[in-house]
Amino acid sequence: MRLRRLVLLAAVAAVAWPAIPTPESHFGHRMGEDRKLIGWDKVVTYFQALAKTSDRIVVRELGKTTLGRPFLAAWISQAGTLKQLEQYRQIQKKLADPRKTGEAEAAKLILQGKAVVMITCSIHSTEVASTHTAVEFAHRMLTESSPRLNAILDNVIFILVPSLNPDGVDIVRDWYLKTLGTPYEGSSQPELYHKYVGHDNNRDWYMFSQAETRLTIEKLHNAWHPQIVYDVHQQGPNASRMFIPPWLDPIEPNIDPLIAQMCNYIGLGMAMDLTAAGKKGIVVNASYDFWTPARHYQAYHGGLRILSETASARLASPVNIRPEEINQTAPGYNPRERSWNYLEPWMGGEWRLRDIVDYQIIAWESCLYQTALRRQDMLRNFYQIGQRAVARTTPYAFLIPLEQRDPGSARKLLETLAFGLVEIEKTAESYLIRMQQPYSGWAKALLEKQDYPDLRLYPGGPPKRPYDVTAHTLPMLMGVDVKPVMSWAAPSAMAADYTFPAKPLSAGNGDTWKEVNRIWSRGASLWRNPQTGDFSARPGAGLIEKKRPKVGLYRSFMPSMDEGWSRWILEEFGFAYQSVKNPEIVAGRLRARYDAIIFPDQSPSAIHNGYRPGSMPPEYVGGLGETGAQALLEFARAGGTLVFLNDSTDYAIGHLGVPLKNVISGVPSRDFYCPGSLLRVRLDEKHPLAHGLPAEIAIWSEGSPAWEVTSGSSTRTIARYVDSGVLASGWLLGEKYLAGRSSLVEVPMGQGRIVLFGMRPQYRAQSYQAVKLLFNSLLL
Ligand SMILES: [Zn+2]
Repeated sequence: MRLRRLVLLAAVAAVAWPAIPTPESHFGHRMGEDRKLIGWDKVVTYFQALAKTSDRIVVRELGKTTLGRPFLAAWISQAGTLKQLEQYRQIQKKLADPRKTGEAEAAKLILQGKAVVMITCSIHSTEVASTHTAVEFAHRMLTESSPRLNAILDNVIFILVPSLNPDGVDIVRDWYLKTLGTPYEGSSQPELYHKYVGHDNNRDWYMFSQAETRLTIEKLHNAWHPQIVYDVHQQGPNASRMFIPPWLDPIEPNIDPLIAQMCNYIGLGMAMDLTAAGKKGIVVNASYDFWTPARHYQAYHGGLRILSETASARLASPVNIRPEEINQTAPGYNPRERSWNYLEPWMGGEWRLRDIVDYQIIAWESCLYQTALRRQDMLRNFYQIGQRAVARTTPYAFLIPLEQRDPGSARKLLETLAFGLVEIEKTAESYLIRMQQPYSGWAKALLEKQDYPDLRLYPGGPPKRPYDVTAHTLPMLMGVDVKPVMSWAAPSAMAADYTFPAKPLSAGNGDTWKEVNRIWSRGASLWRNPQTGDFSARPGAGLIEKKRPKVGLYRSFMPSMDEGWSRWILEEFGFAYQSVKNPEIVAGRLRARYDAIIFPDQSPSAIHNGYRPGSMPPEYVGGLGETGAQALLEFARAGGTLVFLNDSTDYAIGHLGVPLKNVISGVPSRDFYCPGSLLRVRLDEKHPLAHGLPAEIAIWSEGSPAWEVTSGSSTRTIARYVDSGVLASGWLLGEKYLAGRSSLVEVPMGQGRIVLFGMRPQYRAQSYQAVKLLFNSLLL
């Protein structure tokens, strides 16, 4: 009887696990087929179906994306491991903090634990392949049995994020379907693929401004402390087929050498496995450097940053590359020649979405398999990296005095550090960040000045271009007073009475934080009345009431990330605005609707000409043209304020007749180069634009214009580069071109004005100090 019952239960159990659906049965086609892209809703239902049919996968919704889609992660491992996920997470947590976990306990945990590898897909939504690879690879992990896959399941907890930007999966797919079979098939969509930040969504990993970044950091990185975070990307079609680390120099100095060494090791192993599988065109130590923390949070939190960049097709449409179309140069290698780091050049041919999926599957399996083979070493090294961090003695600490010119910014800085697991104590006068903690390298990287190395193509030659920007000094960006303490006389006497809440007051950029930021406090410029939306400005003693300005923000059909960041920052600080597109400007009579119109950082040609005829469907073609320029001049003459940011200032000079010359235009890069750095300017404190700001600040410059203003001209300089010591943080060649030149000017125009910013005052929602200049310009 008893035996029969058991048999019956077994039969019921078998019924409860229906067959694991194949990608083909769920999506109606194989992954990576020509001209087929998958949408997010079906990805979600597929992963849910996997979770219902296999005990090797757990799927969780971590929260909602910016546009409200479910944001998913899957945990894949042996069923027995998944049943004890929380226990394994606790092991990770203990190994992450050597202050609490001694060597003997760590040795035991290293034997028991699993290595945690996280693979994240399609943060850049036009790099479409990896979400498809995620579907196929997850299915393989649950259904196939091979010594390699079994080793992975036995030794690794694999966290798979099928997309870091689900909204973009659909934005790109919708555009692809709309243009499929037309002359525009495979073109880029005429909007940002992330609502606010587009491609810059992987430049947000220390400021954490966007919903997807915050979910990934809080629920995955900080909760799981992965030993490896592998971010899957695609590059242009005309050089190597796939890049994998080792990284190019420079490596940011606060990244532990062991992290960089392990990146080299795992990356070379992946390259070996791809070559063994017959895949050509694999390059290492090329194109991508290991500098800005905006792209690699994990590298300061005990985890390797593995990146792969596979050559793209035209979304899901194949391309055919001719040998003469292969690039002749690339950073770190020659795409047409064999070298130690590019052993089998790929010299053209057909290239399609399926090729990308194939390369990625081999690379992923290799990364996971190598981790599985050296599971204990991975965990031991992870623990050791933490030991080295808590032993840091220089500097001893950073102090952030309670007394700050802008308490809102100081608070935001503290919240940002705390979100990145930095421990903050409070004394009677200061916040205190001691360096003897596991993520001291992270805090140090963000609080200190950067000295980017002077790298040249050859001695005396042009600069080697960094992959992204060169500075990330938060105290300068945010205008917060922070002091390094090189040694501490009596640290034990410094009894900390308070630890800053590890959980920010408003994890979702909620109201508490907004209210704090609306108040710029003593010496500050603005108060906003939440009921009326009006502003009060206080230059010195008196109080001036300002009506809520009617703000327009120019939005070109050619998407501009700076436009998206501008929307984000205006919304964060409670400014109402309207997006203004070409037809509205061309139609004229703008003064009746707006007090100020902002032009974000964008090229004059994008603004004036827009898309060329034939390159996009007709409704997106064209720019402001002459009629639009006349309408803008009319707006300014009738008392409106036109605000131009960074490159768009050249539009004002070229098309609106602003009588200025950009002194750095035409200067060769060997003489002048500023690839994204913080530079010192002095402000005209009497001018309303500078209200609330100190006499000298650091601004964000990325090859930004600077102007010579002749005496006697009606142009008023509000910010001027200092005469020497222009570079505050990062890299600058050719200081003499900037010294004493203007970087923020006001040009009168009839009853109104044109304001030119030779900087990005709202840079990636980081420059909390200079952004006040922008806000003030809207209230003139
Ligand atoms: Zn990318």
